Amino acid sequence: MTDETHLHRHAAAPEPRWCSCAVPDEAAQEHRSGLNRRGFLTGVTAASALAAAGWVATPEKASAAAGGVGKSVTITIMGTSDIHSHAVNWDYYKDAAYTDKAGNVVGLSRVSSVVNQIRADRGRERTLLFDAGDTIQGTPLGFYYATVEPITQTGATHPMAAQINALGYDAVALGNHEFNYGLDFLDTWISQMDAPVLGANAVRAGTTVPAYTPYTIKTMKIPGYKPIKVGVLGLTNPGIVIWDKAHVSGTLEVLDIVETAKRWVPVIRDQGVDLVVVSVHSGDSGTSSYGTDLPNENAAGILAEQVPGIDAILFGHAHKDIPQRFVTNAQTGQQVVLSEPMCWGQRLSVFDIELQQVKGKWTVVSRKSTNLNTNTVQDDPAMVALVQAQHDAVVTYVNKPVATSTEELSAAESCWKDTAILDYVNAVQVDTVSKAIAGTAEASLPVVSIAAPFNRQATFPAGEVTIRDVAGLYIYDNTLMASVLTGAQIKDYLEYSAKYFQQVAPGAPVDPASWTNALNTPDYNYDQFSGVTYDVDIAQPQGSRIQNLSWQGAPVDPAQKFVVAVNNYRQSGGGGFPHIATAPVVYNAQVAIREAIVAYASAAGTIDPADFHVVNWKLTRNGVSVF
Ligand SMILES: [Zn+2]
Ligand SMILES: [Zn+2]
Repeated sequence: MTDETHLHRHAAAPEPRWCSCAVPDEAAQEHRSGLNRRGFLTGVTAASALAAAGWVATPEKASAAAGGVGKSVTITIMGTSDIHSHAVNWDYYKDAAYTDKAGNVVGLSRVSSVVNQIRADRGRERTLLFDAGDTIQGTPLGFYYATVEPITQTGATHPMAAQINALGYDAVALGNHEFNYGLDFLDTWISQMDAPVLGANAVRAGTTVPAYTPYTIKTMKIPGYKPIKVGVLGLTNPGIVIWDKAHVSGTLEVLDIVETAKRWVPVIRDQGVDLVVVSVHSGDSGTSSYGTDLPNENAAGILAEQVPGIDAILFGHAHKDIPQRFVTNAQTGQQVVLSEPMCWGQRLSVFDIELQQVKGKWTVVSRKSTNLNTNTVQDDPAMVALVQAQHDAVVTYVNKPVATSTEELSAAESCWKDTAILDYVNAVQVDTVSKAIAGTAEASLPVVSIAAPFNRQATFPAGEVTIRDVAGLYIYDNTLMASVLTGAQIKDYLEYSAKYFQQVAPGAPVDPASWTNALNTPDYNYDQFSGVTYDVDIAQPQGSRIQNLSWQGAPVDPAQKFVVAVNNYRQSGGGGFPHIATAPVVYNAQVAIREAIVAYASAAGTIDPADFHVVNWKLTRNGVSVF
């Protein structure tokens, strides 16, 4: 949960129709596989769809036939990022094909159709394919093969290795989420990958020795031309050391992106490459979601500006659709082209780099990029077939019932109201921590809990609640921890959390959806406490909003100690909340919170809000309740 836009925003858009003709065994196919046969069409359709998306077929074929020294040639570099274990166009939480308001589709099976079309159009020998990381985590498919049937135990090929190998990637960079399941798991996945998995700035602790392959050099052999050598440097995100502290502390460090590139680009250049591409798991905003103790989180633009010798940068992590950005290198005056292909396989970045032979040497003469929308093509049936059995196993798993809910619980208002569904997360966390600390020195302290609205679309239906309902509520692979905070620290913490709201005048119309996400704060950084009572007065400026903080009916004593149940992301400093990263840890059993919710619900059999929903916080304006 470290990127800004990992939340699944399930819009109620109609499911797009891929073609008007019915497939005879469509219903049977859907029943068996959970996938839609209408998704399987041919390359002819894909080609016309690409043309409609603005794709211009290469003029290079004629020039290739002419060949020869002194001529120019255009190579095409394709890039994905933040696939987040989307193998097929499927929404496991909705148990339906993925849809959103913008008409996007997801999955490497779609990406494959675009890649194949471009390879056919340009000539495969003129193309390369890279990824910028966050590959193995993000859907139930990802967590299933990491935690339910871990590939480390079964020896099965990870679906995201099978597909990436089949697609013939040339290099893949490490994202921060690659570290979510620990280093052994990551090593296993890497061992299954044909392509090198790059991360020059992830180093052995206390050294500058890369712990992963830092770069690779691809030699492109285009008939009639001198071979073209492409150096590819891979860089990952410095935030890993806080977001996955428990997995990497003492083993790995992640160095500054810009400084590391300054070290490695000359090394790559010295090997006679004709151009250098960087695949970096870092956005381009220049800002960090954490403090300044760590190197910059979103450094792709700074990298282009400050490190000489880079031609093109494929970047990710921010999940943005950035078809083309030019940054002028401060030292050389050279224009560097950057592109970010959004996330989940919704876009493919396509760079066209033109080289010319000057005195027998290739020189880059132009660079450009664009993003292609994968909704212009259909699923590649070969890619779907590769993961079909694994996908089916996950669909079966997530549709298992775990408990019965006495009523429907919705997270739709969880960003501005105390909801039962979020209180359920807190109830599970309090129960788990309370049992774990029984008999310890902290057992006499009150146990309170923190939860945030990860997914406004989360719902527990009345009646049967399944694992996918729980997974839709708790979409991140966090583990449960507990720390000791004082009353004063909890007040600071709540004030920090309340900056999520705009300042709203007492008489302004009640429009809570427009009051949230102030200062670009994502929903997952609006923490809500259970166990203490408080008001959030949004008529007041940020920093002066928490009123009436009390515990068991009396004002909270600033010195009073509480055991606070909290997820590992927050405890390790994610979101930059005060006190929590330095507070004494009293519980850390590496229990996945989603699994804890499933176990708790199964044991109870019934989910009844009367058992756990306590409206302990509310929004106010000048002391008057908003709702
Ligand atoms: Zn990501
Ligand atoms: Zn990321």
